[in-house]
Amino acid sequence: MSSKYWKLGIVGWPLGYSLSPLMHTAALKAAGLEGEYKEYPVKPEELDHWLETEAPKLDGFNVTMPHKQEIAAWCRTEGNSQDAFSVLSGVVNTIVMKGGRASGHNTDGDGFWTPLVKHKPLLIKWQVLLLGAGGAARAIAAVLTLRGVAREMAVWSRRLESAERLVEETRKMSRNASVPALAVKDLGSVPVEKCDVIINATPSGMEGEGDAPFPVTSRLRRGQVVYDLVYEPRETGLVLAARKAGCTVITGDEMLAGQGAAAFEIWTRVPAGKVLPAMKKALDEHFAARS
Ligand code: NAP
Repeated sequence: MSSKYWKLGIVGWPLGYSLSPLMHTAALKAAGLEGEYKEYPVKPEELDHWLETEAPKLDGFNVTMPHKQEIAAWCRTEGNSQDAFSVLSGVVNTIVMKGGRASGHNTDGDGFWTPLVKHKPLLIKWQVLLLGAGGAARAIAAVLTLRGVAREMAVWSRRLESAERLVEETRKMSRNASVPALAVKDLGSVPVEKCDVIINATPSGMEGEGDAPFPVTSRLRRGQVVYDLVYEPRETGLVLAARKAGCTVITGDEMLAGQGAAAFEIWTRVPAGKVLPAMKKALDEHFAARS
């Protein structure tokens, strides 16, 4: 067993709802490492001070709302750095600290991709409907672009400008591997029946947010993949409708565990595959205790 004591955590505001401490504590144990994964609830106005004084004491940390963009910008300041995927997606969710310097990574792309190919390994030339145009949607657009698997991607967001911005960014990402993307204002105009993959990357369906208001649930059909990033609850309205329609369903906890295991590997070099089962088990126990 290593003698190093790993100091890991998550920074965001507010916190207290995060399942990351549960997952990473299980991962430390499964990997036989000594350490801790703590929550750092930091208000936006206190973030600069925290980055200067507390972050350097850690080996690494995850970043959640509302600090993802500000910390990505911090990674671009002198002395710090960002990996290629986080530059492409413009979002950072994992930081490695070494000698007071930060390097930013984004594991949402990997976390999203791994369950998708596990459930549908043979999908090619996908027609994708992406609901949402925030940080998670950007990582998804980036990974789909990099993999070159989408034939076309329709992006819908509450505000059309957000969808248009993501489409524009996707065009820039896809200079070498083109993914025709279009922003949609009205979901009624999208041929949902023809989509191979429908992804909810909005908080809609989350506890306290109300259920999925998307007028797509009645148009789902067998054979489609419905991937809901929301994990609390695991069975959202969209997920239930997709199950009823006979779709292949991927729930948000699969991505949660995947992005967590990828972050754990970046920090500790322990392969994600080695800790993923323990992380999933911790999540399953959490959901079982709530049902
Ligand atoms: P974000 O950057 O705040 O983006 C949220 C997106 O959803 C924006 O496009 C926003 O639209 C839209 N939106 C916000 N509230 C909405 C509502 N009530 N109904 C419909 N659309 C709404 O957030 P994010 O980081 O991308 O995260 C999005 C969701 O994915 C969250 O629920 C988060 O917990 C989840 N997530 C899950 C994982 C996982 O591992 N499973 C990983 C990352 C994120 P406007 O821009 O038009 O306001």
